[in-house]
Amino acid sequence: MFRRLRSTPIPGTRDEYTGVDFNLGFHVRSYTLDLAYRVGPNHLSGTAVLQLDNWKSLKAMTLDLAGSLKVSKVTAAGSGGFTPRVARFRQSDNKLRLTFAEEIPVDSEFQLQIRYAGSPRPLRTAWGEIGWEELENGALVASQPNGAPSWFPCDDTPDEKARYEISVSADNPYVVIANGELVGRQAAGSRTTWHYRADFPMASYLATVQVGEYQQLDLSGEGQVPVRAWAPPELKDLVRDEFADQSAMLELYSRLFGPYPFPAYTVVVTEDELEIPLEAQGLSIFGSNHAEGDHAWERLIAHELSHQWFGNSLGLAQWNDIWLNEGFACYAEWLWFEHSADRPAADSAREFYDELAEKPEDLLLGDPGPEDMFDDRVYKRGALTVHALRCLLGDAAFFAVLRRYVAAGRHAVVEPRDLKREVLAEANAQSVPQEVVEKLWDDWLFQRELPEFPEPRR
Ligand SMILES: [Zn+2]
Repeated sequence: MFRRLRSTPIPGTRDEYTGVDFNLGFHVRSYTLDLAYRVGPNHLSGTAVLQLDNWKSLKAMTLDLAGSLKVSKVTAAGSGGFTPRVARFRQSDNKLRLTFAEEIPVDSEFQLQIRYAGSPRPLRTAWGEIGWEELENGALVASQPNGAPSWFPCDDTPDEKARYEISVSADNPYVVIANGELVGRQAAGSRTTWHYRADFPMASYLATVQVGEYQQLDLSGEGQVPVRAWAPPELKDLVRDEFADQSAMLELYSRLFGPYPFPAYTVVVTEDELEIPLEAQGLSIFGSNHAEGDHAWERLIAHELSHQWFGNSLGLAQWNDIWLNEGFACYAEWLWFEHSADRPAADSAREFYDELAEKPEDLLLGDPGPEDMFDDRVYKRGALTVHALRCLLGDAAFFAVLRRYVAAGRHAVVEPRDLKREVLAEANAQSVPQEVVEKLWDDWLFQRELPEFPEPRR
């Protein structure tokens, strides 16, 4: 079983979607972030310790870090005889640029310790402001696709997964929530340090910190996976009601897609309203407007949960493949209603197919480009592509293929060909000619025109 946790050789030196230069030559194995945050003045300070190995010899290297955070010190340490030394560092264009005293030989393992501080703010991007954001009373982080450098130095591309330990101190009574499991909580004077460990490979855009005056609710159901929410005390009843089906969703998806990939699932509901909910690894973030007790956002509660499989456990190699995240997450909404409300996914498919037919057919699902990366057509046409595969293979084989694809890509990085390989194998077993699969694939992903509405093969 091959698992890609480091750069697949994507051609070029720049991410064509984010416009950010790649940081080439190394892989970050883990990030240990030891941070202090002050809500009032919005001040963040601390140290990031990165464990790296390099696949090229390095005289210099870069990391992504926003200019609003100033680095005061960088030190390096080696393991196995070689001791790298940082000769100098500077910051420009949201990059931290390091030069070493001597070249680090290829395949070394070394550590960087980076001390930094500043007032974090979101990065301005083509998709709006993303990353660390101040709330009325706290802060949130939502970094998709490239906002992670707004709060820590990182190699900010989706295929570069690493393990994380995140410690953040804040004034009482603020609660700090981050990815992974809470492994320690230490009070000292008027402040408390919250220590989380995320022991599964995670892309930098999915790393998050939430700070607010939250209280915890247990939303666990009959299943094994703990489900919890953090919400402002005055919203607790509404949140309990709005997220009543969260555990049932998790049970359903675990059955359809394979075991839930993380030890627990958390939702954070902020006091502020948020335009859209956001996914992070092991948790999702909703605004108070998504929990008004009317169940208006049930589909998004299902959608965000499904990203734990599609997007988080199965990460993207590059943003071009965003439909692998959003198409499956949108289809997961339809599956939820198929099971909970007796509404066949085929009916949802028909409804959104008819909507798509009214819209311009000028988008390439397989490579939509940065401007259309989060266009609703990517979500809906992506889900219709998944539905077309279901129609082609039949229910039993389709879900078996889905579970194989999810299992093979678990905690790693996937590309469309990984899905296609499973589909082709199954089609072959059913004596469906390869050309039929190739045509479906090409029509939905690499033609702009909307293909015929998918119908079951027999
Ligand atoms: Zn989504």
